[in-house]
Amino acid sequence: MLIGSSEFKLIKDSLPLGVRLLAVSKGHSQESIRKLSGFGQLDFGESRLQEAVPKKNDLNDLKQLRWHFVGSLQKNKVRGVVKEFDFIHSADSLPLLERISRISQEEQKTPNIFLQVKFRDDPKKGGFLKQDLLNSWPNIISLKNINLIGLMTIPPIAFNARQRKDLFCECRNLANHLELKECSMGMSNDWQEAIEVGATWIRLGSLLFGKRQT
Ligand SMILES: *Cc1c(COP(=O)(O)O)cnc(C)c1O
Repeated sequence: MLIGSSEFKLIKDSLPLGVRLLAVSKGHSQESIRKLSGFGQLDFGESRLQEAVPKKNDLNDLKQLRWHFVGSLQKNKVRGVVKEFDFIHSADSLPLLERISRISQEEQKTPNIFLQVKFRDDPKKGGFLKQDLLNSWPNIISLKNINLIGLMTIPPIAFNARQRKDLFCECRNLANHLELKECSMGMSNDWQEAIEVGATWIRLGSLLFGKRQT
């Protein structure tokens, strides 16, 4: 069930200055998105293009909403994502970034990009390994029509609080090293830990919308 407006306000008011809230609405209805936008929430995250497009069309009257793509991004979905989304949190390889750059030029868009990094080898998750990112960095920063704003990371599912916090810390340090301002990290079960070590975007799904319907 969708969070109430006073509980939502409590969460919003608890966020330190400079920490933004992304409401991850995948698996939830456009009515829930509309209600949450009525509480003042403007940033929404989706992980599948096919699911996002009809919802966005239904919510077309809410021009002020900003859409963030957070799912794993397949090659053949890049054009659709570039056209439909303002932010991409899941750019996880140099070939993918090159494709985003080329298509963004064709579409005359400049999406805001987070590079997804995995700080531990995790076969279930996408993401640059840190060393690969550092090796690719000169190529990445030369790409046109991508506005590189930060790093994104998801800890392995089996991690405990201490391990997650260490990983979030590594993400913040790498972002600082690369002079990137934003860190997209922290979800419903670990957002407070992420904020303590420098998250600037937290991505909350179930805490706001309740259990997913799909
Ligand atoms: C689903 C999802 C979230 C939200 O997860 P919750 O645990 O429900 O808060 C955040 N980030 C990404 C990338 C997701 O896919």
